[in-house]
Amino acid sequence: MRAREQLYIGGKWVAPSGRGSIDVIEAATEEVIGRIPSGNEEDVDRAVQAAARAFEGWAATPVAERARWLERLKEGLAARADEIATTISAEVGTPITVAKTVQAGLAVAVTGSYPAIVREFPFEERIGNSLVVREPVGVVAAITPWNYPLHQAMGKVAPALAAGCTVVLKPSEVAPLSAFILADVVHEIGLPAGVFNLVTGLGPPFGEMLVRHPRVDMISFTGSTAGGRRVAEVAAASVKRVALELGGKSAAVILDDADFDKAVGVSVSNAFLNAGQTCSAWTRMLVPRKRNEQVLQIATRAAAKFKPGDPRAPETRLGPLASAQQRERVRKYIRAGAEQGAQLVTGGADAPNGLPKGYYVQPTIFAGVKPEMTIAREEIFGPVLSVLPYEDDDDAVRIANDSMYGLAGGVWSGDPTHAERVARRLRTGQVDINGGRFNPLAPFGGFKQSGRGRELGKFGLEEFLEVKSLQF
Ligand code: NAD
Repeated sequence: MRAREQLYIGGKWVAPSGRGSIDVIEAATEEVIGRIPSGNEEDVDRAVQAAARAFEGWAATPVAERARWLERLKEGLAARADEIATTISAEVGTPITVAKTVQAGLAVAVTGSYPAIVREFPFEERIGNSLVVREPVGVVAAITPWNYPLHQAMGKVAPALAAGCTVVLKPSEVAPLSAFILADVVHEIGLPAGVFNLVTGLGPPFGEMLVRHPRVDMISFTGSTAGGRRVAEVAAASVKRVALELGGKSAAVILDDADFDKAVGVSVSNAFLNAGQTCSAWTRMLVPRKRNEQVLQIATRAAAKFKPGDPRAPETRLGPLASAQQRERVRKYIRAGAEQGAQLVTGGADAPNGLPKGYYVQPTIFAGVKPEMTIAREEIFGPVLSVLPYEDDDDAVRIANDSMYGLAGGVWSGDPTHAERVARRLRTGQVDINGGRFNPLAPFGGFKQSGRGRELGKFGLEEFLEVKSLQF
Protein backbone atom coordinates (compact mmCIF):
# COMPACT_ATOMS: atom_id res chain seq x y z
CA MET A 1 0.00 0.00 0.00
CA ARG A 2 1.52 3.28 -1.10
CA ALA A 3 -0.18 5.85 1.13
CA ARG A 4 1.01 9.38 0.35
CA GLU A 5 -0.37 11.86 2.83
CA GLN A 6 1.56 14.99 1.94
CA LEU A 7 1.91 17.40 -0.95
CA TYR A 8 5.24 18.75 -2.16
CA ILE A 9 5.22 22.53 -1.88
CA GLY A 10 8.07 25.05 -1.60
CA GLY A 11 10.76 22.38 -1.29
CA LYS A 12 9.03 20.48 1.54
CA TRP A 13 6.60 17.64 2.05
CA VAL A 14 3.67 19.38 3.78
CA ALA A 15 0.31 18.36 5.22
CA PRO A 16 -2.53 19.27 2.85
CA SER A 17 -5.25 21.70 3.90
CA GLY A 18 -7.81 19.58 2.06
CA ARG A 19 -9.10 16.86 4.35
CA GLY A 20 -10.13 14.21 1.85
CA SER A 21 -8.18 11.46 0.16
CA ILE A 22 -8.42 9.55 -3.11
CA ASP A 23 -7.88 5.79 -3.44
CA VAL A 24 -5.61 4.45 -6.15
CA ILE A 25 -6.83 1.14 -7.57
CA GLU A 26 -4.74 -1.63 -9.11
CA ALA A 27 -6.07 -2.26 -12.63
CA ALA A 28 -5.46 -6.03 -12.60
CA THR A 29 -6.86 -6.82 -9.13
CA GLU A 30 -9.32 -3.96 -8.45
CA GLU A 31 -7.67 -3.65 -5.00
CA VAL A 32 -6.78 -0.35 -3.34
CA ILE A 33 -2.99 -0.04 -3.63
CA GLY A 34 -2.49 3.59 -2.78
CA ARG A 35 -3.98 6.75 -1.35
CA ILE A 36 -3.27 10.39 -2.16
CA PRO A 37 -4.50 13.70 -0.73
CA SER A 38 -7.50 15.44 -2.22
CA GLY A 39 -6.26 19.03 -2.08
CA ASN A 40 -8.32 22.21 -1.81
CA GLU A 41 -8.09 25.85 -2.89
CA GLU A 42 -5.64 26.69 -0.11
CA ASP A 43 -3.29 23.94 -1.31
CA VAL A 44 -3.45 25.30 -4.84
CA ASP A 45 -2.72 28.79 -3.58
CA ARG A 46 0.24 27.68 -1.43
CA ALA A 47 1.77 25.76 -4.34
CA VAL A 48 1.28 28.58 -6.84
CA GLN A 49 2.68 31.17 -4.42
CA ALA A 50 5.73 28.95 -3.78
CA ALA A 51 6.28 28.64 -7.54
CA ALA A 52 5.82 32.39 -7.97
CA ARG A 53 8.37 33.19 -5.23
CA ALA A 54 10.90 30.81 -6.80
CA PHE A 55 10.44 32.15 -10.31
CA GLU A 56 12.77 35.14 -10.33
CA GLY A 57 15.75 33.21 -8.97
CA TRP A 58 15.21 30.20 -11.21
CA ALA A 59 14.71 32.31 -14.33
CA ALA A 60 17.99 34.09 -13.54
CA THR A 61 19.88 30.80 -13.02
CA PRO A 62 22.35 30.39 -15.89
CA VAL A 63 21.26 27.96 -18.60
CA ALA A 64 24.29 25.71 -18.00
CA GLU A 65 23.30 25.36 -14.36
CA ARG A 66 19.67 24.58 -15.19
CA ALA A 67 20.97 21.93 -17.61
CA ARG A 68 22.97 20.37 -14.78
CA TRP A 69 19.85 20.21 -12.60
CA LEU A 70 18.04 18.41 -15.39
CA GLU A 71 20.88 15.91 -15.62
CA ARG A 72 20.54 15.21 -11.90
CA LEU A 73 16.79 14.86 -12.29
CA LYS A 74 17.28 12.37 -15.13
CA GLU A 75 19.81 10.37 -13.10
CA GLY A 76 17.45 10.30 -10.10
CA LEU A 77 14.59 9.02 -12.24
CA ALA A 78 16.83 6.47 -13.98
CA ALA A 79 17.92 5.12 -10.61
CA ARG A 80 14.28 4.49 -9.77
CA ALA A 81 13.21 3.19 -13.18
CA ASP A 82 12.17 -0.24 -11.86
CA GLU A 83 10.04 1.26 -9.11
CA ILE A 84 8.46 3.65 -11.63
CA ALA A 85 7.68 0.80 -14.05
CA THR A 86 6.10 -1.48 -11.41
CA THR A 87 4.09 1.41 -9.94
CA ILE A 88 2.66 2.50 -13.29
CA SER A 89 2.08 -1.10 -14.37
CA ALA A 90 -0.03 -1.58 -11.23
CA GLU A 91 -2.12 1.60 -11.46
CA VAL A 92 -2.53 1.79 -15.27
CA GLY A 93 -2.36 -1.93 -16.11
CA THR A 94 0.47 -1.51 -18.63
CA PRO A 95 2.30 -4.83 -19.20
CA ILE A 96 5.53 -4.68 -17.21
CA THR A 97 7.78 -5.10 -20.26
CA VAL A 98 6.14 -2.08 -21.90
CA ALA A 99 6.11 -0.21 -18.60
CA LYS A 100 9.89 -0.56 -18.36
CA THR A 101 10.66 0.60 -21.89
CA VAL A 102 7.92 3.17 -22.40
CA GLN A 103 6.45 4.31 -19.07
CA ALA A 104 9.81 4.56 -17.29
CA GLY A 105 12.25 4.52 -20.22
CA LEU A 106 10.65 7.28 -22.24
CA ALA A 107 10.21 9.54 -19.20
CA VAL A 108 13.92 9.22 -18.45
CA ALA A 109 14.87 9.72 -22.12
CA VAL A 110 12.75 12.87 -22.48
CA THR A 111 14.18 14.35 -19.27
CA GLY A 112 17.68 13.44 -20.44
CA SER A 113 17.18 15.13 -23.79
CA TYR A 114 16.76 18.63 -22.34
CA PRO A 115 20.26 19.40 -20.99
CA ALA A 116 21.66 19.29 -24.56
CA ILE A 117 18.63 20.99 -26.10
CA VAL A 118 18.72 23.93 -23.71
CA ARG A 119 22.51 24.34 -23.94
CA GLU A 120 22.27 24.63 -27.71
CA PHE A 121 19.08 26.68 -27.89
CA PRO A 122 19.46 30.17 -29.43
CA PHE A 123 17.87 32.28 -26.69
CA GLU A 124 18.87 35.52 -28.43
CA GLU A 125 18.98 36.80 -32.00
CA ARG A 126 19.53 40.14 -33.71
CA ILE A 127 17.02 41.49 -36.21
CA GLY A 128 18.09 44.90 -37.56
CA ASN A 129 18.28 47.29 -34.64
CA SER A 130 16.53 44.81 -32.32
CA LEU A 131 17.82 42.21 -29.95
CA VAL A 132 15.17 39.51 -29.63
CA VAL A 133 15.39 37.59 -26.35
CA ARG A 134 13.44 34.53 -25.23
CA GLU A 135 12.41 34.53 -21.60
CA PRO A 136 10.57 31.97 -19.47
CA VAL A 137 6.77 32.35 -19.45
CA GLY A 138 6.58 32.23 -15.63
CA VAL A 139 4.59 29.90 -13.37
CA VAL A 140 3.38 26.85 -15.29
CA ALA A 141 0.52 24.64 -14.15
CA ALA A 142 1.02 21.17 -15.66
CA ILE A 143 -2.09 19.00 -15.74
CA THR A 144 -1.58 15.43 -16.92
CA PRO A 145 -3.61 12.28 -17.71
CA TRP A 146 -3.25 8.66 -16.59
CA ASN A 147 -2.23 6.70 -19.67
CA TYR A 148 1.52 7.51 -19.74
CA PRO A 149 1.61 9.44 -16.46
CA LEU A 150 5.31 10.10 -15.94
CA HIS A 151 6.18 10.53 -19.61
CA GLN A 152 3.43 13.13 -19.93
CA ALA A 153 4.57 14.88 -16.75
CA MET A 154 8.20 15.02 -17.92
CA GLY A 155 7.11 16.24 -21.38
CA LYS A 156 6.06 19.40 -19.52
CA VAL A 157 8.22 19.55 -16.39
CA ALA A 158 11.58 19.03 -18.13
CA PRO A 159 11.23 21.71 -20.84
CA ALA A 160 9.49 24.12 -18.45
CA LEU A 161 12.36 23.89 -15.94
CA ALA A 162 14.91 24.06 -18.77
CA ALA A 163 13.24 27.26 -20.02
CA GLY A 164 13.46 28.84 -16.54
CA CYS A 165 9.81 28.42 -15.56
CA THR A 166 8.65 27.11 -12.20
CA VAL A 167 6.03 24.38 -12.11
CA VAL A 168 3.00 23.16 -10.20
CA LEU A 169 2.17 19.62 -11.34
CA LYS A 170 -1.31 18.15 -10.96
CA PRO A 171 -1.26 14.52 -12.09
CA SER A 172 -4.33 12.44 -12.89
CA GLU A 173 -6.08 11.07 -9.84
CA VAL A 174 -6.32 7.67 -11.61
CA ALA A 175 -2.53 7.15 -11.83
CA PRO A 176 -0.82 9.68 -9.56
CA LEU A 177 1.85 7.58 -7.82
CA SER A 178 4.76 8.13 -10.21
CA ALA A 179 4.37 11.90 -9.71
CA PHE A 180 5.14 11.33 -6.03
CA ILE A 181 8.28 9.39 -7.01
CA LEU A 182 9.22 12.38 -9.19
CA ALA A 183 8.76 14.71 -6.20
CA ASP A 184 10.89 12.35 -4.07
CA VAL A 185 13.66 12.64 -6.68
CA VAL A 186 13.30 16.44 -6.83
CA HIS A 187 13.67 16.53 -3.06
CA GLU A 188 16.66 14.16 -3.00
CA ILE A 189 18.61 16.14 -5.58
CA GLY A 190 17.84 19.35 -3.69
CA LEU A 191 16.28 21.36 -6.51
CA PRO A 192 15.78 24.93 -5.19
CA ALA A 193 12.59 25.29 -3.14
CA GLY A 194 9.44 26.12 -5.10
CA VAL A 195 10.85 25.37 -8.54
CA PHE A 196 8.80 22.16 -8.66
CA ASN A 197 5.61 21.61 -6.67
CA LEU A 198 3.15 18.72 -6.60
CA VAL A 199 -0.53 18.96 -5.71
CA THR A 200 -3.25 16.34 -6.12
CA GLY A 201 -7.02 16.39 -6.32
CA LEU A 202 -9.96 15.61 -8.55
CA GLY A 203 -10.06 16.90 -12.14
CA PRO A 204 -12.82 19.45 -12.55
CA PRO A 205 -13.05 21.12 -9.12
CA PHE A 206 -9.39 20.96 -8.14
CA GLY A 207 -7.77 21.25 -11.58
CA GLU A 208 -9.90 24.27 -12.38
CA MET A 209 -8.71 26.10 -9.24
CA LEU A 210 -5.24 25.85 -10.68
CA VAL A 211 -6.40 27.04 -14.11
CA ARG A 212 -8.14 30.04 -12.55
CA HIS A 213 -5.34 31.10 -10.22
CA PRO A 214 -4.21 34.63 -11.15
CA ARG A 215 -0.51 33.93 -10.48
CA VAL A 216 -0.40 31.03 -12.94
CA ASP A 217 0.97 32.29 -16.27
CA MET A 218 0.50 29.20 -18.40
CA ILE A 219 -1.47 25.97 -18.41
CA SER A 220 0.05 22.97 -20.10
CA PHE A 221 -2.71 20.38 -20.29
CA THR A 222 -2.74 16.83 -21.62
CA GLY A 223 -6.01 14.95 -21.51
CA SER A 224 -9.34 14.54 -23.24
CA THR A 225 -10.60 17.01 -25.81
CA ALA A 226 -13.60 17.75 -23.56
CA GLY A 227 -11.24 18.50 -20.65
CA GLY A 228 -8.99 20.67 -22.83
CA ARG A 229 -11.91 22.67 -24.15
CA ARG A 230 -13.04 23.39 -20.59
CA VAL A 231 -9.52 24.33 -19.47
CA ALA A 232 -9.16 26.74 -22.41
CA GLU A 233 -12.52 28.29 -21.56
CA VAL A 234 -11.64 28.85 -17.87
CA ALA A 235 -8.15 30.11 -18.73
CA ALA A 236 -9.58 32.61 -21.22
CA ALA A 237 -10.93 34.73 -18.36
CA SER A 238 -7.37 35.72 -17.43
CA VAL A 239 -5.92 35.34 -20.97
CA LYS A 240 -3.41 32.74 -19.82
CA ARG A 241 -1.30 30.95 -22.33
CA VAL A 242 -2.71 27.45 -22.89
CA ALA A 243 -0.98 24.47 -24.48
CA LEU A 244 -3.21 21.47 -25.16
CA GLU A 245 -2.35 17.85 -26.01
CA LEU A 246 -5.69 16.15 -26.55
CA GLY A 247 -7.32 13.11 -28.07
CA GLY A 248 -6.90 11.37 -31.39
CA LYS A 249 -8.46 9.00 -33.90
CA SER A 250 -5.43 8.32 -36.01
CA ALA A 251 -5.38 6.33 -39.22
CA ALA A 252 -2.89 3.79 -40.54
CA VAL A 253 -3.16 4.12 -44.31
CA ILE A 254 -2.04 0.89 -45.97
CA LEU A 255 -1.45 1.60 -49.67
CA ASP A 256 -1.89 -1.13 -52.27
CA ASP A 257 1.86 -1.50 -52.86
CA ALA A 258 2.68 -2.06 -49.15
CA ASP A 259 4.15 -5.16 -47.53
CA PHE A 260 0.80 -6.23 -46.09
CA ASP A 261 2.08 -8.74 -43.52
CA LYS A 262 4.31 -6.13 -41.96
CA ALA A 263 1.98 -3.15 -42.36
CA VAL A 264 -1.05 -4.87 -40.87
CA GLY A 265 0.93 -6.60 -38.12
CA VAL A 266 2.64 -3.42 -36.94
CA SER A 267 -0.59 -1.41 -37.20
CA VAL A 268 -2.46 -3.90 -35.00
CA SER A 269 0.36 -3.72 -32.42
CA ASN A 270 0.22 0.07 -32.55
CA ALA A 271 -3.56 0.07 -31.96
CA PHE A 272 -3.30 -2.29 -28.97
CA LEU A 273 -0.25 -0.75 -27.25
CA ASN A 274 -1.09 -0.03 -23.59
CA ALA A 275 -4.50 -1.68 -24.25
CA GLY A 276 -5.29 1.06 -26.76
CA GLN A 277 -4.92 3.79 -24.15
CA THR A 278 -2.56 5.82 -26.29
CA CYS A 279 -3.61 9.20 -27.67
CA SER A 280 -1.65 8.65 -30.88
CA ALA A 281 -2.87 5.05 -31.43
CA TRP A 282 -3.77 4.08 -35.00
CA THR A 283 -7.34 3.12 -34.19
CA ARG A 284 -8.49 3.23 -37.82
CA MET A 285 -6.89 0.99 -40.41
CA LEU A 286 -7.55 2.12 -43.99
CA VAL A 287 -7.14 -0.68 -46.54
CA PRO A 288 -7.70 -1.08 -50.30
CA ARG A 289 -11.18 -2.59 -50.70
CA LYS A 290 -9.94 -5.42 -52.90
CA ARG A 291 -7.41 -6.50 -50.26
CA ASN A 292 -9.92 -6.40 -47.38
CA GLU A 293 -10.15 -10.20 -46.84
CA GLN A 294 -6.37 -10.64 -46.84
CA VAL A 295 -6.02 -7.80 -44.31
CA LEU A 296 -8.61 -9.31 -41.98
CA GLN A 297 -6.80 -12.65 -41.94
CA ILE A 298 -3.47 -11.03 -41.05
CA ALA A 299 -5.11 -8.72 -38.50
CA THR A 300 -6.90 -11.59 -36.77
CA ARG A 301 -3.66 -13.54 -36.48
CA ALA A 302 -1.91 -10.44 -35.10
CA ALA A 303 -4.71 -9.79 -32.57
CA ALA A 304 -4.45 -13.38 -31.27
CA LYS A 305 -0.98 -12.50 -29.95
CA PHE A 306 -2.62 -9.92 -27.65
CA LYS A 307 -4.15 -12.36 -25.21
CA PRO A 308 -5.31 -10.40 -22.15
CA GLY A 309 -3.27 -11.32 -19.09
CA ASP A 310 -1.57 -10.29 -15.87
CA PRO A 311 0.47 -7.12 -16.52
CA ARG A 312 3.11 -8.35 -14.05
CA ALA A 313 4.02 -11.30 -16.30
CA PRO A 314 6.90 -10.45 -18.66
CA GLU A 315 5.25 -12.17 -21.65
CA THR A 316 1.93 -10.26 -21.37
CA ARG A 317 1.24 -7.88 -24.25
CA LEU A 318 -2.30 -6.79 -23.32
CA GLY A 319 -3.09 -5.80 -19.75
CA PRO A 320 -6.33 -4.49 -18.26
CA LEU A 321 -7.66 -0.97 -18.82
CA ALA A 322 -6.86 1.60 -16.15
CA SER A 323 -10.24 1.86 -14.45
CA ALA A 324 -13.74 0.42 -14.21
CA GLN A 325 -15.10 3.59 -15.80
CA GLN A 326 -12.78 3.21 -18.79
CA ARG A 327 -13.72 -0.47 -19.21
CA GLU A 328 -17.43 0.41 -19.27
CA ARG A 329 -16.85 3.18 -21.78
CA VAL A 330 -14.96 0.85 -24.11
CA ARG A 331 -17.56 -1.92 -23.84
CA LYS A 332 -20.26 0.60 -24.72
CA TYR A 333 -18.36 1.53 -27.89
CA ILE A 334 -17.97 -2.15 -28.84
CA ARG A 335 -21.73 -2.63 -28.49
CA ALA A 336 -22.34 0.54 -30.54
CA GLY A 337 -20.09 -0.81 -33.31
CA ALA A 338 -22.10 -4.01 -33.56
CA GLU A 339 -25.44 -2.16 -33.36
CA GLN A 340 -24.45 0.21 -36.16
CA GLY A 341 -23.68 -2.70 -38.47
CA ALA A 342 -19.91 -3.08 -38.32
CA GLN A 343 -18.70 -6.65 -38.68
CA LEU A 344 -17.09 -8.06 -35.53
CA VAL A 345 -14.02 -9.96 -36.69
CA THR A 346 -12.55 -10.82 -33.31
CA GLY A 347 -13.13 -9.88 -29.65
CA GLY A 348 -16.33 -8.34 -28.35
CA ALA A 349 -17.87 -6.61 -25.34
CA ASP A 350 -17.90 -9.68 -23.06
CA ALA A 351 -15.21 -10.03 -20.42
CA PRO A 352 -12.31 -12.24 -21.57
CA ASN A 353 -12.37 -15.82 -20.27
CA GLY A 354 -10.53 -16.75 -17.11
CA LEU A 355 -10.04 -13.23 -15.77
CA PRO A 356 -12.76 -12.69 -13.16
CA LYS A 357 -11.01 -9.67 -11.65
CA GLY A 358 -9.39 -6.68 -13.34
CA TYR A 359 -10.57 -4.20 -15.96
CA TYR A 360 -9.88 -6.45 -18.94
CA VAL A 361 -11.36 -6.02 -22.41
CA GLN A 362 -10.82 -8.43 -25.32
CA PRO A 363 -8.72 -7.20 -28.24
CA THR A 364 -11.43 -6.31 -30.73
CA ILE A 365 -11.42 -5.73 -34.48
CA PHE A 366 -14.32 -4.45 -36.55
CA ALA A 367 -14.39 -4.72 -40.34
CA GLY A 368 -16.56 -2.96 -42.91
CA VAL A 369 -16.56 0.15 -40.75
CA LYS A 370 -18.09 3.22 -42.42
CA PRO A 371 -16.59 6.66 -41.77
CA GLU A 372 -19.85 7.92 -40.25
CA MET A 373 -20.07 5.17 -37.58
CA THR A 374 -19.43 6.15 -33.97
CA ILE A 375 -16.49 3.72 -33.70
CA ALA A 376 -14.81 5.46 -36.66
CA ARG A 377 -15.32 8.95 -35.25
CA GLU A 378 -14.90 8.93 -31.48
CA GLU A 379 -11.83 8.19 -29.43
CA ILE A 380 -12.47 4.86 -27.69
CA PHE A 381 -9.21 4.56 -25.71
CA GLY A 382 -9.32 0.77 -25.54
CA PRO A 383 -8.12 -2.20 -27.61
CA VAL A 384 -10.60 -1.64 -30.43
CA LEU A 385 -9.52 -1.34 -34.07
CA SER A 386 -11.78 -0.29 -36.95
CA VAL A 387 -10.90 -1.45 -40.47
CA LEU A 388 -12.24 0.85 -43.20
CA PRO A 389 -12.03 -0.04 -46.90
CA TYR A 390 -11.09 2.65 -49.44
CA GLU A 391 -11.17 2.87 -53.25
CA ASP A 392 -7.99 4.75 -54.21
CA ASP A 393 -5.34 7.06 -52.70
CA ASP A 394 -7.59 10.14 -52.87
CA ASP A 395 -10.37 8.26 -51.10
CA ALA A 396 -7.91 7.04 -48.43
CA VAL A 397 -6.70 10.59 -47.77
CA ARG A 398 -10.27 11.88 -47.63
CA ILE A 399 -11.32 9.22 -45.09
CA ALA A 400 -8.16 9.68 -42.99
CA ASN A 401 -8.76 13.45 -42.81
CA ASP A 402 -12.48 13.11 -42.13
CA SER A 403 -12.01 13.51 -38.36
CA MET A 404 -12.23 16.26 -35.78
CA TYR A 405 -8.84 14.96 -34.59
CA GLY A 406 -5.42 15.26 -36.19
CA LEU A 407 -2.77 13.86 -33.89
CA ALA A 408 -0.87 11.03 -35.60
CA GLY A 409 -1.02 8.41 -38.32
CA GLY A 410 0.92 5.98 -40.43
CA VAL A 411 1.40 5.39 -44.14
CA TRP A 412 2.66 2.11 -45.61
CA SER A 413 3.93 1.62 -49.15
CA GLY A 414 6.66 -0.33 -50.95
CA ASP A 415 7.69 2.99 -52.47
CA PRO A 416 8.82 5.55 -49.85
CA THR A 417 8.12 8.51 -52.18
CA HIS A 418 4.54 7.25 -52.68
CA ALA A 419 4.19 6.97 -48.88
CA GLU A 420 5.63 10.45 -48.37
CA ARG A 421 3.26 11.97 -50.95
CA VAL A 422 0.29 10.57 -49.05
CA ALA A 423 1.78 11.41 -45.63
CA ARG A 424 2.12 15.07 -46.65
CA ARG A 425 -1.61 15.20 -47.37
CA LEU A 426 -2.65 13.99 -43.91
CA ARG A 427 -3.83 16.77 -41.59
CA THR A 428 -2.08 15.49 -38.46
CA GLY A 429 0.87 16.46 -36.29
CA GLN A 430 2.85 13.26 -36.89
CA VAL A 431 2.92 10.55 -39.56
CA ASP A 432 5.15 7.45 -39.36
CA ILE A 433 6.20 6.13 -42.75
CA ASN A 434 6.57 2.33 -43.04
CA GLY A 435 6.76 2.07 -39.25
CA GLY A 436 9.29 4.90 -38.72
CA ARG A 437 10.11 4.72 -35.03
CA PHE A 438 9.09 7.19 -32.33
CA ASN A 439 11.55 10.08 -32.08
CA PRO A 440 11.59 11.79 -28.66
CA LEU A 441 13.22 14.89 -30.19
CA ALA A 442 10.55 15.39 -32.89
CA PRO A 443 7.63 17.76 -32.21
CA PHE A 444 4.53 15.95 -30.95
CA GLY A 445 1.06 17.50 -30.97
CA GLY A 446 -2.15 17.91 -32.80
CA PHE A 447 -3.88 19.60 -35.71
CA LYS A 448 -7.57 20.45 -35.31
CA GLN A 449 -9.18 19.33 -32.02
CA SER A 450 -6.17 17.19 -31.06
CA GLY A 451 -4.62 20.24 -29.49
CA ARG A 452 -2.64 23.40 -29.66
CA GLY A 453 1.14 23.64 -29.43
CA ARG A 454 3.88 21.02 -29.53
CA GLU A 455 5.77 18.97 -26.97
CA LEU A 456 9.21 17.31 -26.98
CA GLY A 457 12.55 18.43 -28.32
CA LYS A 458 13.29 22.10 -29.02
CA PHE A 459 9.67 22.73 -30.08
CA GLY A 460 8.61 21.61 -26.60
CA LEU A 461 11.05 24.09 -25.06
CA GLU A 462 9.73 26.99 -27.17
CA GLU A 463 6.25 26.45 -25.70
CA PHE A 464 7.53 27.75 -22.36
CA LEU A 465 9.22 30.89 -23.69
CA GLU A 466 7.99 34.43 -24.19
CA VAL A 467 9.57 36.58 -26.90
CA LYS A 468 10.78 40.11 -26.12
CA SER A 469 12.43 42.60 -28.46
CA LEU A 470 14.82 45.33 -27.35
CA GLN A 471 15.40 48.17 -29.85
CA PHE A 472 18.76 49.92 -30.01
P1 NAD B 1 -9.08 13.98 -18.67
O1 NAD B 1 -9.33 15.11 -19.58
O2 NAD B 1 -10.23 13.38 -17.97
O3 NAD B 1 -8.07 14.41 -17.52
C1 NAD B 1 -6.76 14.86 -17.78
C2 NAD B 1 -6.26 15.64 -16.57
O4 NAD B 1 -7.00 16.83 -16.45
C3 NAD B 1 -6.41 14.94 -15.24
O5 NAD B 1 -5.34 15.31 -14.40
C4 NAD B 1 -7.72 15.50 -14.71
O6 NAD B 1 -7.79 15.44 -13.32
C5 NAD B 1 -7.65 16.93 -15.20
N1 NAD B 1 -8.92 17.60 -15.47
C6 NAD B 1 -10.07 17.06 -15.94
N2 NAD B 1 -10.99 18.03 -16.09
C7 NAD B 1 -10.41 19.20 -15.73
C8 NAD B 1 -10.85 20.55 -15.66
N3 NAD B 1 -12.09 20.90 -15.99
N4 NAD B 1 -9.98 21.49 -15.24
C9 NAD B 1 -8.72 21.16 -14.91
N5 NAD B 1 -8.25 19.90 -14.92
C10 NAD B 1 -9.09 18.93 -15.33
O7 NAD B 1 -8.27 12.89 -19.51
P2 NAD B 1 -7.84 11.44 -19.03
O8 NAD B 1 -9.06 10.57 -19.08
O9 NAD B 1 -7.04 11.51 -17.79
O10 NAD B 1 -6.83 11.02 -20.19
C11 NAD B 1 -7.23 10.43 -21.37
C12 NAD B 1 -7.28 11.45 -22.49
O11 NAD B 1 -6.02 12.09 -22.63
C13 NAD B 1 -7.56 10.84 -23.82
O12 NAD B 1 -8.54 11.60 -24.49
C14 NAD B 1 -6.24 10.92 -24.55
O13 NAD B 1 -6.33 10.98 -25.94
C15 NAD B 1 -5.66 12.16 -24.00
N6 NAD B 1 -4.21 12.16 -24.17
C16 NAD B 1 -3.63 13.02 -25.06
C17 NAD B 1 -2.27 13.01 -25.25
C18 NAD B 1 -1.61 13.92 -26.22
O14 NAD B 1 -0.41 14.14 -26.08
N7 NAD B 1 -2.28 14.47 -27.19
C19 NAD B 1 -1.49 12.16 -24.52
C20 NAD B 1 -2.10 11.29 -23.64
C21 NAD B 1 -3.47 11.32 -23.46
